[in-house]
Amino acid sequence: MMAVEFPKSLWAATAMGRQLSASLQGVEETDVAVIGAGFTGLSAAIEARKRGHAVTVLEGKAVGWGASGRNNGQVIPILTSAEPDVWVSRYGEVGKRMVRLIGNSGDVLFDLVRDFDMQAEAEQSGWFQPAHSPGRVKLSQKRVDAWQRHGFPAEIRDAKDCADLLGTDFWHGGMFNPTGGHINPLALAREMARVAEHLGAVIHEESLATSFERVGSQWVIKTPKGTLKARALIMASNAYTGELVPRLAPRIARSVVPVLSWQMATEPVGDNLRQKILPGRQAVSDTRGDLRFFRYDARNRLITGGAVIGSVNVANRVRRKAAENLAEAFPELGVPEMTHVWSGYIGMNWDRFPRIHKLGPDGWAWIGCNGRGVALGTSLGRELARAATGQPEDELALPVSEPTPFAMHGLVRRVAPTYLAWLKRQDHKEIRS
Ligand SMILES: Cc1cc2nc3c(=O)[nH]c(=O)nc-3n(C[C@H](O)[C@H](O)[C@H](O)COP(=O)(O)OP(=O)(O)OC[C@H]3O[C@@H](n4cnc5c(N)ncnc54)[C@H](O)[C@@H]3O)c2cc1C
Repeated sequence: MMAVEFPKSLWAATAMGRQLSASLQGVEETDVAVIGAGFTGLSAAIEARKRGHAVTVLEGKAVGWGASGRNNGQVIPILTSAEPDVWVSRYGEVGKRMVRLIGNSGDVLFDLVRDFDMQAEAEQSGWFQPAHSPGRVKLSQKRVDAWQRHGFPAEIRDAKDCADLLGTDFWHGGMFNPTGGHINPLALAREMARVAEHLGAVIHEESLATSFERVGSQWVIKTPKGTLKARALIMASNAYTGELVPRLAPRIARSVVPVLSWQMATEPVGDNLRQKILPGRQAVSDTRGDLRFFRYDARNRLITGGAVIGSVNVANRVRRKAAENLAEAFPELGVPEMTHVWSGYIGMNWDRFPRIHKLGPDGWAWIGCNGRGVALGTSLGRELARAATGQPEDELALPVSEPTPFAMHGLVRRVAPTYLAWLKRQDHKEIRS
């Protein structure tokens, strides 16, 4: 029986079990210490072991307990706001590396799954971003052109192709990326942990890092019952950085706003409907600010979700809204019952650009997934492990920057959900114009 409670998600109900590893007791030493066992921390551990370095992961709860075990499982090799040309004009050569990292991130994740035969219900069926207005199709075309210029396989789908792909004419066309797809996220996190351990990494679960400091040439990380000493440190606690130990890295924690995102699953869709609705089983997230997204899992449930404004009866309201959104696009589905409803924190920052921050000598963290961290976290974890094991820091795909904490973080956090109202209004205006 596991002592750590997981949200009652579909993933917790379907992922293979994992025996909790022993918590850290007493003093241990390693070469690379990692805080957090989500996709970032586990990918970093795998890479550090591949490069021959000793690595120990400290996880406050259990493998995949954070965003990595709660998300929609969409593998999306494109970020929310930043276009490839924007990265290059902002960061020059470093920006070009980031474009390559993002553009390759779908293949990096699926190759990892294939190389280690991970049982993660992985389907590299592509990722599709349908446009919610004709104007957005023009923007999709521009995005496709930009990604193609940078050598990545984005494709445009016109209204007819889009209707064939989705089984509805609710959208107008859009951008397709064949390297995306979907996974069972908690299964993937647990499989990544299995592989990391198989390669020789040590993982301590129920081992909350309560502080870290640089003492001489080492990092000293304290947990309630132990101390870990390491040459290098990767903080991979992402949106949960300030949630479990507010004082762990307050400047970094206050530079992101954790926003609750809701996920849910329908009953398995019958074969007849399944062949009509999304027959190619792609992962789908549209162009709305108030995002509509869905994909099938391995049992043919549709996994979808969303957000609502306000704090009263949220789970029921978001459940109804997501079900009605599906019914609006696919009337033959009716308004589906949701069998599982759960939530988790997405780390938003002010300009939606992910950042790498320096903790001190040989110490790094990244932050700011903005809802696109499955593929990105896997690739950035690998990137941070390379820095921690000898690759020069100025060869990273992101420049190392100072955190920029929100001045009134508590207030920003409280008002962040009202941003949704503004996004909804923009979506509506665009559809009517
Ligand atoms: C509901 C939801 C839906 C999403 N859907 C998608 C999607 O479909 N596609 C996509 O690309 N992205 C999606 N995302 C984003 C994506 O899930 C995250 O960006 C990604 O999982 C981040 O991985 P991570 O390893 O960096 O962080 P996490 O998975 O959050 O891992 C951080 C870990 O650190 C641990 N931790 C925190 N503090 C400490 C401490 N002091 N000591 C020890 N351990 C600590 C936590 O317990 C946690 O396990 C979604 C996110 C959410 C919440």
